[in-house]
Amino acid sequence: MIDFHAHLDLYPNPFEVVRDCILRNIYVLSVTTTPSAFAGTLQLADGATRIRTALGLHPEVAHLRRKELALFDDLVPHTRYVGEIGLDGSPHLRQHWVDQQTVFRHVLRACARNGGRVMSLHSRRAAKPVLDALAENRDSGCAILHWFSGTVRELRCAIDLGCWFSVGPSMLSSERGRELARHMPRERVLTESDGPFANHQGHALWPRDVVTAVKQLAELWGQDLKEVEGQLASNLNEIGRRANTAS
Ligand code: MN
Repeated sequence: MIDFHAHLDLYPNPFEVVRDCILRNIYVLSVTTTPSAFAGTLQLADGATRIRTALGLHPEVAHLRRKELALFDDLVPHTRYVGEIGLDGSPHLRQHWVDQQTVFRHVLRACARNGGRVMSLHSRRAAKPVLDALAENRDSGCAILHWFSGTVRELRCAIDLGCWFSVGPSMLSSERGRELARHMPRERVLTESDGPFANHQGHALWPRDVVTAVKQLAELWGQDLKEVEGQLASNLNEIGRRANTAS
């Protein structure tokens, strides 16, 4: 199983969640929301060979954490994965739009300077500006749009830019989410939980709940579970290869 976007450090019981991931052999991209959370979150996965920790600066806190960009720059040489980063165009965050853009572009340039990174990106109500920033920073690495919720036209632009996608049970529970997923190239899709933020049927998702997304993809793709798992494993392998060719 693969959970390519989970906030392990934000569960009330992070050690229990990590133990469960190890027990079930789940590959996890453990994303963070601030550079200052990176060290502790990395430690959480100590000894867990299938968990990778990503360095992030979430757009919802960009205006509060701009000062941590210096720490971001110090840490980025030490990890091949960056996230959660991006932009959020929700009305309550509009007043911080300039800060969001400053932070996001700084982060993309830092990734580029370091030879590119595998990046997990947030783009709620901001698909176009996120794609514009990626187009201006093509050497920033391999972009994986998590829980993409733009239009089909924006999705096509993302595909043309070389973006990947991570999809979870919450996204695939809506017809709109499924419609987007149908247009995604199968060889560029990974599963995610986005736990503990994302809910499904009234409970906060755990990494193990990606099994639901595998079933949903099987239905969308008209394949059996084994075929879907094979495709996702091969996709993860390709991402690992890309992460390792980044400097
Ligand atoms: Mn997230």
